[in-house]
Amino acid sequence: MQKTNNTIAIIGAGIAGIATAYYLLKKQSNLKVILVDKNQPLSYTTSKSGENFRDFWPQKPMTEFSSHSIELMKDLKREYGEDAFSMNFSGYDFVSFDVDKPIFPTNSQEVFDNVMEEITDAETIRSERPYFSEKVRKIVRIKNAGNIDVYGMGMLMLSKARDLGLQFLTGEVSDIFKNKSGFQIKLNTNEIINVDKIVIAAGPFIGHIAKMLGMKLPIENILQQKFMVSDPQKIIPTNMPFTIYADGQVLDWSEEERTFFASDEKYKWLLDEFPGGLHIKPESGKIKLGWAFNTTAAQPMWEPSTLELFPQVVLKGASRFIPQLADYQNNIPGPIIQYAGYYTRTKENFPLIGATQMPDVFVVGALAGYGTMSACATGELCAKYVLSETKLPDYARYFHPLRYEDSALMNEINDSMSDGQL
Ligand SMILES: Cc1cc2nc3c(=O)[nH]c(=O)nc-3n(C[C@H](O)[C@H](O)[C@H](O)COP(=O)(O)OP(=O)(O)OC[C@H]3O[C@@H](n4cnc5c(N)ncnc54)[C@H](O)[C@@H]3O)c2cc1C
Repeated sequence: MQKTNNTIAIIGAGIAGIATAYYLLKKQSNLKVILVDKNQPLSYTTSKSGENFRDFWPQKPMTEFSSHSIELMKDLKREYGEDAFSMNFSGYDFVSFDVDKPIFPTNSQEVFDNVMEEITDAETIRSERPYFSEKVRKIVRIKNAGNIDVYGMGMLMLSKARDLGLQFLTGEVSDIFKNKSGFQIKLNTNEIINVDKIVIAAGPFIGHIAKMLGMKLPIENILQQKFMVSDPQKIIPTNMPFTIYADGQVLDWSEEERTFFASDEKYKWLLDEFPGGLHIKPESGKIKLGWAFNTTAAQPMWEPSTLELFPQVVLKGASRFIPQLADYQNNIPGPIIQYAGYYTRTKENFPLIGATQMPDVFVVGALAGYGTMSACATGELCAKYVLSETKLPDYARYFHPLRYEDSALMNEINDSMSDGQL
């Protein structure tokens, strides 16, 4: 394929790559942008998203970033119509048995006060949530939160970018060469693309693409899961907000189970202390649950396998604060639909968006468990870097791929009391 003067290849048509293509072409429609993916657009990590969004994070840059992304999603609906994709402001509720413990330790009380509402009145909790355990003492509500149809939003941006001239190529990038006039990208289809700039947007594989260019990115991939089951007893009301149990816990196994797990290396982990963050929401007449307790980094696979006993473990954990869910633990109302994908993350859980140490190579990724809610702000920011814009939002410097060279900035980031992961 011949290149013109300003040809940009975006490697990866997940939500990050698509949003970058959209904002690039919206800003400058005379660019030649080629989006490359091995698979169908939005079919890898993005298709596993729980589709939740919120504007509260323990760190100010993340709160500003996600708030801005929510505004950009609203802009898309304003521009292309209310029905362009669904976006429901159904809220996020964190619940805890401990009235004094902060749900998300944060250095920024100002951010907390602006976006959260705290309910500690026992009667209000009982009347709003009669199915909760009586031990629940606190609900902390994020008001500007809910769920979006990520596939609808992504396909909208893809089709609008195509209208502006975006080309989509199917093929796996197998190698990249730097030459005098730019880059040669080799696909497994034997096609070669010649481009001036590259945006690495390959989700869990951003490290693999960077390696083709001799770079190493500070990321790891951690497999996380969600699943959906029926709710024949109608335990969870269909209008319940996305609800997160904030307390850590040791699962309540019987003495016999405990002895068995302790005797077998394969099952010992079931006796560990699990972190807070178990979440549950009603979806399409069923219930969807997740719990990002896995912390083991892995090499990404195209077809990741699911963790044995995950639904049983999560239902047991969930019955701690919604006791009736214990009825489903050993008799799970099928079919069980499981979703597994990687949280690609940096140590501090901030994304990588911007220029790399190699001129004309950009990265947009490490979006962990927040990549669909932040997609619009992510794509917009990456487009600004590619177009060498100098007016950047304040959060940009916290997410720059070369931030690790700035020790003062890194000290500030590392001072955060929580990384906000769910
Ligand atoms: C279980 C789970 C639940 C989640 N829930 C939420 C949520 O509720 N809210 C939220 O905001 N976020 C959530 N996330 C996070 C969100 O889904 C991700 O951050 C986001 O989808 C990442 O998008 P991406 O475009 O970076 O990556 P991807 O969607 O993985 O896209 C990368 C693309 O690159 C392509 N690619 C890779 N290598 C090559 C190559 N060599 N050649 C060609 N193409 C290549 C892949 O085929 C893929 O299409 C969740 C994630 C998981 C795993």
